[in-house]
Amino acid sequence: MRCILLKLKKVELLGFKSFADKTEISFNGEGIAAVVGPNGCGKSNISDAIHWVLGEQSARTLRSGRMQDVIFNGTPGRKPTGLAEVRLTLLDPDWAQNSAAAEQRPAEGGLASRYTEAGEGIITVARRLFASGESEYLLNDRVCRLRDIHELFLGTGLGPDSYAIIEQGRIGQILSAKPYERRALIEEAAGVTKFKARRKLAWAKLESSKQNLARVNDILEEVSRQLGSLQRQAARARRHQELRQQMQAQLRTLLVGRYRQKEEETAQAALELGRHRGAVRDLAEQIEQQEAALHQAHQLLERQQEELRRAAEERGTLRLEAERLRGQIATQSQQAVYLARRA
Ligand code: ATP
Ligand code: MG
Repeated sequence: MRCILLKLKKVELLGFKSFADKTEISFNGEGIAAVVGPNGCGKSNISDAIHWVLGEQSARTLRSGRMQDVIFNGTPGRKPTGLAEVRLTLLDPDWAQNSAAAEQRPAEGGLASRYTEAGEGIITVARRLFASGESEYLLNDRVCRLRDIHELFLGTGLGPDSYAIIEQGRIGQILSAKPYERRALIEEAAGVTKFKARRKLAWAKLESSKQNLARVNDILEEVSRQLGSLQRQAARARRHQELRQQMQAQLRTLLVGRYRQKEEETAQAALELGRHRGAVRDLAEQIEQQEAALHQAHQLLERQQEELRRAAEERGTLRLEAERLRGQIATQSQQAVYLARRA
């Protein structure tokens, strides 16, 4: 098992608790660094800042009421900052060796594989919190998830519940802790936590894979059940397709035949139509001639009727003349009789 050793190089604070101005605390020297100052000057705020930037979620652990309380809240002579930012610079002295290990065993690489691109084994971790509650984490100046930070520090003693930062009163807490609580601390120190977390993740993945497999098996069973019916349906569909094609071919032949027949009939009908048109023309001429003859006959009839009427008139006149003459004759006959009698 390989333990990862990290060296704290620098802590930068801006607007975090009592650090209103940008403050940089460097730990460049070898050996032990001590922060000394009077009560309330902000020594514990530095360790709070380190806790916070590593993803601490409990405001109580940070000695605050709620998370936004870590933002510098102002003084009578100074306005609140509205933003808290802490940046940590760490160094992995064995970075070259760890990077090579990460390349060989990426699953174990974790930490080293994350920062090789930053070069020289330098890792920067930053956290920002705005008064609105909006927050972000940055790993080597790139926005990342809190989970990435946790994963990065697994097994280094710097994660949540870590042993790397032991604040006021924590020693007493550890000594009076229950054995299983102490075990967690020892396991983290021994680098077991990282593997336990990975094992948990692997179990979760395995469980999810098992469930997926069960689902796939269910689906497979269902699909096999449907397969027979689908095969029958497919055979029917194929037969249907064949019959349809045959029907279409026969229909095409039939329609082509009918079309040809209709074409012939149309040609025949066109011929007949031509013939009929000629006959109609002849008939029209005949009708015209007969109409002319009829007209002449009408005129002749009218003339004869006129002559007849005139003859009738003449006959009437003659009849009257005859009447008158008959009267005259009768009168003359009577006179003759009378004269004869007298004579
Ligand atoms: P001791 O020696 O007693 O442990 P200390 O040096 O650890 O003290 P801290 O507890 O780090 O001191 O700092 C406490 C100071 O930080 C207080 O003066 C408090 O007013 C200030 N402080 C805490 N939170 C904020 C904040 N959000 N804004 C401004 N100042 C704050
Ligand atoms: Mg203190």
